[in-house]
Amino acid sequence: MNFIDTHTHISDEAFHSEEEEVIERALKAGVFKMLMADVDSGERDAMRALCAKHEGVLYPMLGLYPGSVKENWQEELDKVFSLSEEGGVVAIGEVGLDYHFSTEFAKEQMDVFVAQLELASKKNLPVNVHLRDATEDFFKAMEACKGLGLRGNLHAFSGSAQTLRRLRNYGEWSVGIGGVLTFKNAGIAKELEDIDLAQIVLETDAPYLSPTPKRGQRNESANIPIIAQKVADIKGIGIEEVAERTTANALRLFSLL
Ligand SMILES: [Zn+2]
Repeated sequence: MNFIDTHTHISDEAFHSEEEEVIERALKAGVFKMLMADVDSGERDAMRALCAKHEGVLYPMLGLYPGSVKENWQEELDKVFSLSEEGGVVAIGEVGLDYHFSTEFAKEQMDVFVAQLELASKKNLPVNVHLRDATEDFFKAMEACKGLGLRGNLHAFSGSAQTLRRLRNYGEWSVGIGGVLTFKNAGIAKELEDIDLAQIVLETDAPYLSPTPKRGQRNESANIPIIAQKVADIKGIGIEEVAERTTANALRLFSLL
């Protein structure tokens, strides 16, 4: 079976000096491609270097993460735009809105998000969206960008099937399903019954959100089959079908070679 982890952070300091082992374990578990989410300039060089070393296995995204939108946001955004000229990225991400811990930079987050949506459209790239506690503003951004032909996915999706249906008014969108699905009483487990397998890709968001029974531990891409098994259980199908379908979805969404 082949799986794709569509959102991971192997350059995160949590993996420092163990990156090669982490990639090795993922490959052994059948996770043959991993998409590396960009956060900000602090980690970007290390992330891109690791992707260059593992071409065809690790793929870089490019984007300014909403949690990194601070006083220096303009400078950070300029770096994203200038790097976008070089190409070689599979998505603009992770970008979006996060009002969970603070709304201090909510206005700037919105401006940065819309600017990056426009960039994705200009470059004809999919968008990997991080969205937390900002659903209505997210739809305002979608409305502002209507007609730009956007496509992409909501990563670490914990919203409702209804939100996804609403999003279909704004282009081709799918959801990234990760470890939260395996948590006890997770709302997304119920919602998943109403989400078509054609709109699902798998992800870990490693080192975060480790699936049960590894909840609380450092997560890594090798845990993708645990998440796939849970999707299979909910859908009443075999894990082989989940692997095949979600891999095809990810290859298509991110135009991976
Ligand atoms: Zn992430």
